Amino acid sequence: MTITSFNPPQRVLMGPGPSDVHPRVLSATARPTIGHLDPTFVGMMDEVKELLRYAFQTKNTLTMPVSGPGSAGMETCFVNLIEAGDTVVVCQNGVFGGRMKENVERIGATAIMVMDDWGSAIDLDKVRDALKSAGNVKALAFVHAETSTGVQSDAKGLCALAQEFGALSIVDAVTSLAGTPVMVDEWGADAVYSGTQKCLSCTPGISPLTLSDKAVEVVRNRKTKCPSWFMDLSLVMGYWENASGGARSYHHTAPVNALYALHESLVMLKAEGLENSWARHTKNHLALRAGLEAMGLGLMVNEADRLPQLNAVTLPEGIDEAAVRKSLLTNYDLEIGAGLGALAGKVWRIGLMGQSSDAAHVVLCLSALDGTLSAMNAPIKSGVAVAAAQKVLFG
Ligand SMILES: *Cc1c(COP(=O)(O)O)cnc(C)c1O
Repeated sequence: MTITSFNPPQRVLMGPGPSDVHPRVLSATARPTIGHLDPTFVGMMDEVKELLRYAFQTKNTLTMPVSGPGSAGMETCFVNLIEAGDTVVVCQNGVFGGRMKENVERIGATAIMVMDDWGSAIDLDKVRDALKSAGNVKALAFVHAETSTGVQSDAKGLCALAQEFGALSIVDAVTSLAGTPVMVDEWGADAVYSGTQKCLSCTPGISPLTLSDKAVEVVRNRKTKCPSWFMDLSLVMGYWENASGGARSYHHTAPVNALYALHESLVMLKAEGLENSWARHTKNHLALRAGLEAMGLGLMVNEADRLPQLNAVTLPEGIDEAAVRKSLLTNYDLEIGAGLGALAGKVWRIGLMGQSSDAAHVVLCLSALDGTLSAMNAPIKSGVAVAAAQKVLFG
């Protein structure tokens, strides 16, 4: 067999990420590779940090992209802020809170779990009780936007609770950033990480991260060395920061071209404006919802806790959900997500993230679902979804 160039099909990405990447961002990756210590590149790094401060709504000095996917951002927070023997209160209402627990335990720290149902928001009263009875808690860790269920939790209230009990807050904003308000300074959050492939609509593989000055002090005053050499922020900062105006030093080779893409996607976000991006995500969510409901399909999550960029859709009676997804992919090049973990086989996850959050995506998804489900004789009302969405979109 001769292996030749790989040419992927052109898909429409409406799952839990990656989302569609704009041609401007894709073409940025094809620009010439230059050295990661080239002065021109260092200038671009400073712009990326400045643009990330805008995206995160923070003045934090330590705001930078971690070289790795969202999971690397998560791990960077835990290995730097938590030491063996520490106690961390971890909230879990879906898949990603469970990964936070794994991170805490692998460090040799204790995770006190606050569990909520999959599909419910984090219950602040339970968190308060856990913080109260645990005593000396190093950090409160939670997921702002649970991509496995489409639930948004009260990040502002949770960060305030952490502060009240003298704990750091560690916030997963992978799916929330740019899709729904992430207000790092207003919340007083200490460590917040995200991902490039969700509402930033950039190529996957980079994790934006921001740490408060208080969190940076905790990193500087560790009793033990960070157990990960690669993620040790006290070393990585030597490359990403030159607060004293000194030279940047080599730590690892930055993913140069992937950072061009992040820079471009952040330039596009700045040009649109965060508020406009949030409003766009809300409007397209409402249009999708109107179409789904007209068709007779429902959303799993309570209205108040719904995430506009990730819609957990309940399945019509008696249909093979995997066959529907396969048909959408084969016939329409359209990817939607399956249920994850406890929700596997119970819901579809329709993402309206970044570039995938627009009228054309909403209408394609609704009409493709209508056609596919009708062909399978599913109990839906056919021929009404697009009109219902159109009304929300254009009046
Ligand atoms: C996608 C996601 C992650 C993991 O990001 P990767 O880039 O896949 O490593 C973490 N947390 C949440 C909430 C996510 O949606």
